[in-house]
Amino acid sequence: MSISDSSSSSSSIDTQLPGAPDPADYDFDPYSVWGAASVIDGLQEATTVEDYSRLLMAKPDDFWPDHIDFGNTKIAKEVAIFNLGSATDCPHLGETECQVDADDCYAYNAEGEGGYAPMALPKRRRQELLWKESDLYLFTRALQRTFERKQHEITALRLSESGDIRTQQDVRDIQYIADELDVPVYLYTASSGLDWSEAPDVTINASNEWVEGADRQYDAVPTVDDIPEDGIQCPYDMEGSDIKCGECRLCIDPDMQEDVYITLHT
Ligand code: SF4
Repeated sequence: MSISDSSSSSSSIDTQLPGAPDPADYDFDPYSVWGAASVIDGLQEATTVEDYSRLLMAKPDDFWPDHIDFGNTKIAKEVAIFNLGSATDCPHLGETECQVDADDCYAYNAEGEGGYAPMALPKRRRQELLWKESDLYLFTRALQRTFERKQHEITALRLSESGDIRTQQDVRDIQYIADELDVPVYLYTASSGLDWSEAPDVTINASNEWVEGADRQYDAVPTVDDIPEDGIQCPYDMEGSDIKCGECRLCIDPDMQEDVYITLHT
């Protein structure tokens, strides 16, 4: 992202025309994604926090999909979710950094051909467009305003329930957001090639042993018996549990020290 003059919420973004994506920056054609034309148009015209809020959240009378979610089957509605990209375009899909094979990746299967969430892929690609082309200052304040307008309290921001963090600039941008927002920002990452010390205010859950500077490990083990004594099983993963992320804050709050484990087989 670029960042505008922080003294004004309506200043221009930079000398480049904002919101005109360069296909070379993407693993897909950004102009052929369903709904992307509206996002690109919106970005090119967006100069205020209000404009950016509208790109994140639909108004009730708009035919416009939200680009930020509040909860899902695993995450409580008090947690806002924004993806920096899709699982299909994840830099670690099928690579050694990831704990699971591509065929076993839940997010990839959901958004893939024949998956149960076929609209997830274009939505997450539009989110990547928003992430890469937005003005960071306005984007961050639009996030804050969106949270303030919710009927219920927002207690955390989860980044990237699909895909992973790609660049060091992403790390710096995420740190900026975490520093500015009133709620904890957390993510899971297998991006071991990045310098996470540049994101001291982000709660980082490492999903492989090579990620340095994480707050904790978040690993998959074959069975409960394989969880080390100083580790803890994810409460959502426990049989019969109805605890969601947000109610449980083991991965969200940086002062929770235990490594967290999920099981591949019960
Ligand atoms: S340990 Fe808690 S916060 Fe982490 S994934 Fe499990 S339920 Fe969510």
